[in-house]
Amino acid sequence: MRALRREYLQALDLQPWALRAPAPAPGEPALPGAAAALALPAAPGDTDWASLRGRVSVCTRCALSTTRTQTVFGVGNERADWFVVGEAPGAEEDKQGEPFVGRAGQLLNSMLRAIGLARDAVFIANVLKCRPPNNRDPSAAEVAECLPYLEQQLALVKPKIVLVVGRIAAQSLLGSEAPLGKLRQQTHRFGAARVPLVVTYHPAYLLRSPAEKRKAWEDLKYARKVALNG
Ligand code: SF4
Repeated sequence: MRALRREYLQALDLQPWALRAPAPAPGEPALPGAAAALALPAAPGDTDWASLRGRVSVCTRCALSTTRTQTVFGVGNERADWFVVGEAPGAEEDKQGEPFVGRAGQLLNSMLRAIGLARDAVFIANVLKCRPPNNRDPSAAEVAECLPYLEQQLALVKPKIVLVVGRIAAQSLLGSEAPLGKLRQQTHRFGAARVPLVVTYHPAYLLRSPAEKRKAWEDLKYARKVALNG
């Protein structure tokens, strides 16, 4: 198990010796950071996976329906403790119909394995179910149209923690314009169930900015603590 973890930390370009979480000081709370409560409206509509999948697969609520190859619903364990949320499908995801494939997907898998999670043990989805052309940022209107699907997925999975990767997804879910650096390392709460929500960097960003991988590892350790402690 230790060798496995070492392997995944190496995939993050991190040295295992530098990664031990400091023991909390006496009296220090187990979960640092402020809890920001959010109360988004309940998602309308579907109460089961089949009808939700069906609706998403033929959705034309925004113009991205005219440029997509296919919708990218999400994959994974429908009863997962961890729900990972990214921004939107890219070219490869649009082609394959699955979120987080390609190099960024492989790095996400490594990040999850570093904290003891197999890809198929979590549920993975994006805020948007269709690819924005040329990988542009989603518009506010597109997010508003698509977010109810993600809210419904969250209501069905009932995870113990939501791990949000990347600025766009974090800002969309939190209704915030704060930079990612101000949103990470704290426990937000999402929706009526007040599910703990933790933010970290998008793996595609980490591929471009490997110096930030150490911060991502700190975020993953933080998220693991939140998942354990609620
Ligand atoms: S991005 Fe979301 S709202 Fe827009 S067409 Fe696709 S599934 Fe529908």
